[in-house]
Amino acid sequence: MRLILVGPPGAGKGTQAVFLAAHFAIPHISTGDIFRLNIKGETDLGKLAKSYMDAGNLVPDSVTNAMLEDRLTHTDAENGFLLDGYPRNVGQAEFLADVLVKKSIALDAVLELSIPHEEIIKRLSGRRTCRNCGASSHVIFDKPNVEGVCDNCGGELYQREDDKEEVVANRLNVYTEQTEPIIAFYRNLGLLKVINAVGDVSEISTHAIAALK
Ligand code: AMP
Repeated sequence: MRLILVGPPGAGKGTQAVFLAAHFAIPHISTGDIFRLNIKGETDLGKLAKSYMDAGNLVPDSVTNAMLEDRLTHTDAENGFLLDGYPRNVGQAEFLADVLVKKSIALDAVLELSIPHEEIIKRLSGRRTCRNCGASSHVIFDKPNVEGVCDNCGGELYQREDDKEEVVANRLNVYTEQTEPIIAFYRNLGLLKVINAVGDVSEISTHAIAALK
């Protein structure tokens, strides 16, 4: 299974990606997670990406494309992968198409998680992320057992710089202007499946599996 998950920030891509990657036994490749790991490790890539990310803007394509192409050469991606947060614009979608042609492989599906913007703002402003494992929780809708502590690994929960209200508005604009056009790109290729991303997490997972069958 070679799959792309697309949807606005806060649609639950990360949560569904973890579930779908386990279900199909494929690696979950999140460009956002790779950037955050580099920021944590204070690498040159992390230093470069940080200013774009903190403002809610896209990291330049040259950097992101090279990073993604390199990730796809790892052996775990040989028989399938799930891309979460990539491609983020038509240029990246075209770049990915070229990479896949070079490897003589093709995508199986692009799954869009569809959600109204009001719902996104509610979700993102209360989202907390684990510094250690990256798992998300929510201060109202998905409270951790102990405030500030990750249920998954005991790590510290924090609010991502780009989940702050003023940055969320910019991320939504970036999504509408730059990322949404890739939906038509993949619809034209006959790869697009759309599911409603509002509701119970496990129900959404069930819809995702049904859409991909
Ligand atoms: P995410 O975790 O997917 O919400 O990504 C967080 C941030 O990382 C984004 O707001 C961008 O600044 C950056 N980022 C992640 N993926 C990409 C991408 N494919 N192209 C450019 N920037 C990206």
